[in-house]
Amino acid sequence: MKPSAFQYERPNDLHAALGLLASGDDTQILAGGQSLVPMMNYRLAQPARLVDINQLSELNYIREDGDVIAIGALARHAAIKSSPLILEHLPIMAEAYDWIAHAAVRNRGTLCGNLCHADAASEMPAIMQILEADLVLSKVGSSRTVPARDFFIGIYETVITADEMLTEVRIPKPLPGTGWGFEEVAMRRGDYAWCTIVATLQIEDGKITAPRIAMAGVETSAARLTAAEDAIVCQTPGAALFVQVADAAAQAADPADSATGNAAYKRDLVRALLPRVLNVAVSRAG
Ligand SMILES: Cc1cc2nc3c(=O)[nH]c(=O)nc-3n(C[C@H](O)[C@H](O)[C@H](O)COP(=O)(O)OP(=O)(O)OC[C@H]3O[C@@H](n4cnc5c(N)ncnc54)[C@H](O)[C@@H]3O)c2cc1C
Repeated sequence: MKPSAFQYERPNDLHAALGLLASGDDTQILAGGQSLVPMMNYRLAQPARLVDINQLSELNYIREDGDVIAIGALARHAAIKSSPLILEHLPIMAEAYDWIAHAAVRNRGTLCGNLCHADAASEMPAIMQILEADLVLSKVGSSRTVPARDFFIGIYETVITADEMLTEVRIPKPLPGTGWGFEEVAMRRGDYAWCTIVATLQIEDGKITAPRIAMAGVETSAARLTAAEDAIVCQTPGAALFVQVADAAAQAADPADSATGNAAYKRDLVRALLPRVLNVAVSRAG
């Protein structure tokens, strides 16, 4: 398959790129191209114009900014996965990348492109929500910051507007001693998730504090499991509690119809994976 005809622009700096976004309808940003190009080839996307941001080296960074790890729009999955800063402060991201696509795709694909693509079965939207990341959306003359939790609307749908670019993801460093868990069921490692559950938490005086739990691959977009969080906060961790919470989360889930399983199966995955994730997170909290 080949894409339909399109105009191609390759600006050299952010200012020029934002100007192009402001100047025309039906324009899409080309980052790693790992999702956009297949969609164009299948004619699921037929933008009139592409703005290729691969020359914007100013956006290719992963850096420490006080209590925040800042990741620019051109940081590739592979660079993030092996970054010493990520391994030290955000190991859940490095672990998750073992499940996200394959080395060749990770060498080109970007975190920002992944988030803007907003596939319902994509892992990073769930992880950004439990890490309480902020997304910086820039356009000519201004920028706004949107919490990851408010960014995703539905399948392939976010709050970003046509004249905006996601220029930076800002992730607060988790407190020392934060435990994390990641579990996924997919056809194979590297395929999109049938169900992913992720969590972070702390343990203080034997009780769970600051639990954050999210899932992907189940509903139309990644979502925080706030009822489960409320059910375990200030509680002593334990198998019976986690099974009870997982059962409630499975019942409350509203699985989307998908080729990767019917609603009952998706609920079973939530029920099975959630206790495992919480047990691992507790064992890592210190
Ligand atoms: C074989 C294969 C397996 C994969 N498996 C997984 C998987 O298991 N899990 C997973 O999560 N992903 C998976 N992916 C997708 C991969 O993670 C993509 O790299 C990612 O989704 C898109 O990043 P990109 O930089 O390639 O974006 P592109 O494909 O260039 O763009 C994707 C969309 O985001 C927009 N966009 C890109 N950057 C920006 C920006 N900075 N601001 C605003 N809009 C922007 C584009 O206009 C486009 O609409 C897989 C891909 C392939 C080909």
